Amino acid sequence: MDELTCDKHPQYEVKRKPRSMCPACWAMWDAKVAEEKRIWDEEHKVSSMRYHPATDGALKELAWNIATDQVFTSRHCRNMVEVTMCFPVLLMMELCDRKFLAANPPGLIWAAYKDAGPRAVNGLPMFWSAQFLSPDDLPKMEAYLKKALADRAKWVDVDQQGPVDIDEPIPGTGPCGEANFGLEGSSE
Ligand SMILES: [Zn+2]
Repeated sequence: MDELTCDKHPQYEVKRKPRSMCPACWAMWDAKVAEEKRIWDEEHKVSSMRYHPATDGALKELAWNIATDQVFTSRHCRNMVEVTMCFPVLLMMELCDRKFLAANPPGLIWAAYKDAGPRAVNGLPMFWSAQFLSPDDLPKMEAYLKKALADRAKWVDVDQQGPVDIDEPIPGTGPCGEANFGLEGSSE
């Protein structure tokens, strides 16, 4: 916050409730109280984020769309810095939601290529929204993905198309285990 002194009382810093009736001092005091309340509220807000279990159909569809290069995922990134570059929304979410994600790392972060923004970052697409796969649903989706990739190989010349490189998970406890989501005290 800026200097907490008004023009008329340059020697008095508004750290406590003003004793004078100076409107400028009081305006600063009110603003200071409001800002402190905003920060307190932000830090104490409870996230309403939850992982909803995906249906089998949804997991199959996601697996097929990944196998056919219609969906970009956090697994296409080499590290969490790239993940947050591709999904900048991860750093702009509410503090409580970022805390939720850091404490409950998603199994996969993904978006459809058709929703990519016009610009690319380091050759990777960028999205203004992101979908989250529950960590519990990840193994099931991976099993479907294996089948989908095998099915895809029957239909297209995989060598010519270039294989979907999703085998290398992001280092960490899970695919998104190292995520810090812009929180402090992280090692990015
Ligand atoms: Zn004053």
